[in-house]
Amino acid sequence: MIDFEAERRRLVENLKAEGVIRSRKVAEAMLKVPREKFVPARLKNQAYYDTPLPIGWGQTVSAPHMVAMMCELLELEVGHKVLEVGAGCGYHAAVVAEIVAPREAENPGHVYTVEIVKELAEMARRNLEANSYAGRVTVVEGDGTLGLPEYAPFDRILVTAAAPSVPPPLLEQLKPGGIMVIPVGDPYSYQVLRLVRKRSNGRVEEEDLLGVAFVPLRGAYGHKGLL
Ligand code: SAH
Repeated sequence: MIDFEAERRRLVENLKAEGVIRSRKVAEAMLKVPREKFVPARLKNQAYYDTPLPIGWGQTVSAPHMVAMMCELLELEVGHKVLEVGAGCGYHAAVVAEIVAPREAENPGHVYTVEIVKELAEMARRNLEANSYAGRVTVVEGDGTLGLPEYAPFDRILVTAAAPSVPPPLLEQLKPGGIMVIPVGDPYSYQVLRLVRKRSNGRVEEEDLLGVAFVPLRGAYGHKGLL
């Protein structure tokens, strides 16, 4: 029997030592979410390897260090309304929810996560419900490159698939003072993790931080010609 809690603690300690986890809130969120309950059952024993894992339909759940890094870059606070594009298995959304909508919060925020593959949207919903995130995370099946105008604007936006460029609807739906993290680049080729800040006067600043490898973003503002 694997002691998943011990594995989770060890992973978080490693990510802290590597400088990926820099804040207590990201550390605590990563300690709370059981990754082994989000990945496919046959991969449970690999849940705390710091690697992406296949979740079906050609997609992957990001490696824990990428989840942690994106959460740090987003400067998440309790009460934030967050949009995630690419729910996958729901793991990343759960980690974000632990930060913006912890159980004890008086004014909890909320995570909206959009998934284009119907079966994955269902999987994310099931996983989130089974792990008590249903009230804090809403899974929407659809094209996340269009954002979610009915719930906009968002304090924070994270995109977990690589886009050809920043989809204009997402930029529009980001609040002034908001932050977006998005991988940009060609499918299965060079991609950068881009940090986008919309200043309170509406000015947009972009910074490319590091090379990354994400599955391609599909949809209206995604990559064309993908299966
Ligand atoms: N955050 C996820 C990672 C999933 S990988 C997790 O924690 O598991 C990226 C996901 O983005 C895939 O599930 C893929 O189907 C989805 N995706 C790709 N293009 C999309 C789009 N335009 N809208 C919504 N989801 C999209």
